[in-house]
Amino acid sequence: MNQVIGLQCVRCGRHYRVDEAAYTCPACGDQGILDVLYDYDGVRKRLSREGLARNPERTIWRYAPLLPVEEVRRASPLNVGWTPLYRASRLADSLGLPGLELWLKDDGRNPSASLKDRASAVALVRAREEGAEVIAAASTGNAASSLACLCASVGQRCVIFVPEQAPPAKVAQLLIFGARVFLVRGSYDQAFDLCMEACRTYGWYNRNTAVNPYLSEGKKTVILEVCEQLRWEAPDLVFVPVGDGCIIGGVGKGLRDLQALGWLERLPRLIGVQAEGSSVLARAWARGTEEIVPVPPTTLADSISVAQPRDALKALRAVRDTGGEYVVVSDGEILEAMRLLGQTQGVFAEPAGATGLAGLVRMAREGRLRGDERVVVLVTGNGLKDVASALKAVPLAPAIEPTLEALRSRLP
Ligand SMILES: *Cc1c(COP(=O)(O)O)cnc(C)c1O
Ligand SMILES: [Zn+2]
Repeated sequence: MNQVIGLQCVRCGRHYRVDEAAYTCPACGDQGILDVLYDYDGVRKRLSREGLARNPERTIWRYAPLLPVEEVRRASPLNVGWTPLYRASRLADSLGLPGLELWLKDDGRNPSASLKDRASAVALVRAREEGAEVIAAASTGNAASSLACLCASVGQRCVIFVPEQAPPAKVAQLLIFGARVFLVRGSYDQAFDLCMEACRTYGWYNRNTAVNPYLSEGKKTVILEVCEQLRWEAPDLVFVPVGDGCIIGGVGKGLRDLQALGWLERLPRLIGVQAEGSSVLARAWARGTEEIVPVPPTTLADSISVAQPRDALKALRAVRDTGGEYVVVSDGEILEAMRLLGQTQGVFAEPAGATGLAGLVRMAREGRLRGDERVVVLVTGNGLKDVASALKAVPLAPAIEPTLEALRSRLP
């Protein structure tokens, strides 16, 4: 039995029973993204910090009483979540901030190599509980490869829509996992709209970001883990890369859950980091409005390249409610952060995966850190997913003849 007591529209505030709204608010339509509500007294009876410390389950399912599923036995057997949290002292030193208590949450270590597995894992159980024959998703690449991966592990059919321009490694993942894949001649936003229509037409279970309210619930597990790994002493700042806004909205939800359970004394400030060429949310934030003005994206960080962020309200409110802010970085700064992360800590991130760090570097350079904060940077996706971008971040290696002489002429 789970502890979900209903759903609430983030736009109009109306409450629904779970069986009254499949995806978005019936009154507001696709804009009416829903929040999942829990009976926290009920959760507290089944989940405690002491119980967690003794729990050998090293996946997101250690938090099952705080997740919107009934039958955890229907979950993928793959290990989703409980990713490493590394102390990053070499990185802090290289920023000239040796007193910074810097941590990296490496979510590239999930089964399909991105944080999206947390959301897909929850969606998969929900879809199976409903007896869905097909699960569909549109994606810049990672949500799709994640869904395809987890579906393959249990023999669930899925249909995927990605832009034709998605990085080849992500498309390769889809095909290796045996998904039905459509390469859409258009943008991610167009693939998204097509998938929405297809789900309505064919009755497929819809795993599109934001419109499926259970995805934020999966994504929130990343901050539950971070807080547990830090022994429930919350960080001061958490840096989160932002595209559609579902991850940062989920992180905000996880923090609200922990606060409702009385497990956190104070909340970290959430810093949403966007690429300059895809910064609709940061611009809305700067204008002090929740009104979204879509802009065609131009960043190389494909996973956060969106014209119209689908989870805007949750994303803006998560930052506002924690006293955080939005920061914008250039593609050059993202490439620099990829290099820095690899060279100081041995962690390889795709461009979007290193964008949180690029935000931290930017704030450090602007002198906006005290230098003694406890800081967590979410690394959301593995670098092998987009090798072409990685090669833009570094100089090419010299090719040499296989002789010691040739080597000597190259050494200083
Ligand atoms: C999806 C994704 C993001 C951004 O998440 P949103 O929910 O779209 O804001 C960041 N990094 C990676 C690697 C992703 O796949
Ligand atoms: Zn509504």
